[in-house]
Amino acid sequence: MNCTLHRLLLSSATLALIAFHVAASLSAYPVVLGANTGECSVPASENLVPVRREVYGNGRIIDITHRLTSDLPSYESMGSLGQFLWLAFSMKNGSLTNNSEMKLPAHTGTHVDAPGHVYDHYYEAGFDVDTLDLEVLNATNRSLWTRLHFASTKRAQLSPTSSFLKKANTMSGRNRCIPLLLLLSSIYALAAASLDAYPSVPGLDAGGCSVPTGEKNENLLLMRVFGNGRIIDITHRITPDLPAFDSEESLGQFLWLLLSMKNGSIANFSEIKLSAHTGTHVDAPGHVFDHYYDAGFDVDSLDLEILNGPALLVDVPKDKNLTAEVMESLHIPKGVRRVLFRTLNTDRRLMYKKEFDTSYVGFMRDGAKWLVENTDIKLVGIDYLSVAAYDDLIPSHLVFLESREIILVEGLKLEDVPAGVYTVHCLPLRLLGAEGSPIRCILIK
Ligand SMILES: [Zn+2]
Ligand SMILES: [Zn+2]
Repeated sequence: MNCTLHRLLLSSATLALIAFHVAASLSAYPVVLGANTGECSVPASENLVPVRREVYGNGRIIDITHRLTSDLPSYESMGSLGQFLWLAFSMKNGSLTNNSEMKLPAHTGTHVDAPGHVYDHYYEAGFDVDTLDLEVLNATNRSLWTRLHFASTKRAQLSPTSSFLKKANTMSGRNRCIPLLLLLSSIYALAAASLDAYPSVPGLDAGGCSVPTGEKNENLLLMRVFGNGRIIDITHRITPDLPAFDSEESLGQFLWLLLSMKNGSIANFSEIKLSAHTGTHVDAPGHVFDHYYDAGFDVDSLDLEILNGPALLVDVPKDKNLTAEVMESLHIPKGVRRVLFRTLNTDRRLMYKKEFDTSYVGFMRDGAKWLVENTDIKLVGIDYLSVAAYDDLIPSHLVFLESREIILVEGLKLEDVPAGVYTVHCLPLRLLGAEGSPIRCILIK
């Protein structure tokens, strides 16, 4: 694996790919005019103002998700969402970290409905949000253009659309979006036969009317790869069996039906209660720096450009923590901004063990320091609940998060994914005021 890795890292094709997104100005937080951005000196708290944006990467990334605030309207309710987030552990009360907990209806703000919302037999059969097809939810330009090509070969049926296509092919830049959007309805109609909202499972009756009854289909539940292997889900499913940090108990019940069709409600309606650091999640600097917490450097202020772009998945030596020596041995080229580190934790399947295991591997302080000082990495991904080794838990977090330029994604699901270059897409919830958030990460080949 090391040989493969070195070949990979040193190949010029790889370098060209990753250089694509090199930008001196790419930091985890947008620059604040007038704010002290000195590296070591912590700016006075009055200068600490997070910039809240919806557009990132020079307009390339547009956030169309509503921020979760207590003022969000709540369906058919006179009142708003109200308090949904609180500090379970606070540094002001002597805790080493700030740790939030949240409680939300599943249909809060920008959200998705699964069929079990209004069909109780689908609910019973397990057609939940985790079974939705990520290819439908993440059509990339490539798949869009493949379908456009398909559409263009069907000119006879599509003459009005074809003129749009010609226009689309001759237009440049952002204008191209307009005909593309207008085309979507016909494209989806054409592609519908192959692109269902649920992956087809061998042996499962996919007929429109006959509904699989009773048992949940294990194949359906295990499916983690979408779009002919092009999209790989690297997020752990949230289940009661997930390990919880520093706890002998697993996560336990985190979801229940607030309204149930079995009790006469017209829809099923779940509520969720979770720690902000559950399963695959992101840390914001307020997790370990209380003045950042107070200043509002929460998960909603993280830069989506860092969280979305070319990334390396690398294997680290499987027997040790991530020290300076190990980091140096990986020869990660300058210019690489996003690295997902696969460690012994994946081999040991620690995320599948209910009890928290303190013998997991992670960054030692000197490894974190080496990364900060010698690489351009701004997104650090790891395969257990903490990026920092248990012995250096707080020091490593402090080194990574002090500059507010590095984003930490923890608890990634990296088994069975070849090491290499991907495009990573990680999206945290827009939890206003939270120092952590469950995050959905996928890799696209
Ligand atoms: Zn965390
Ligand atoms: Zn952490």
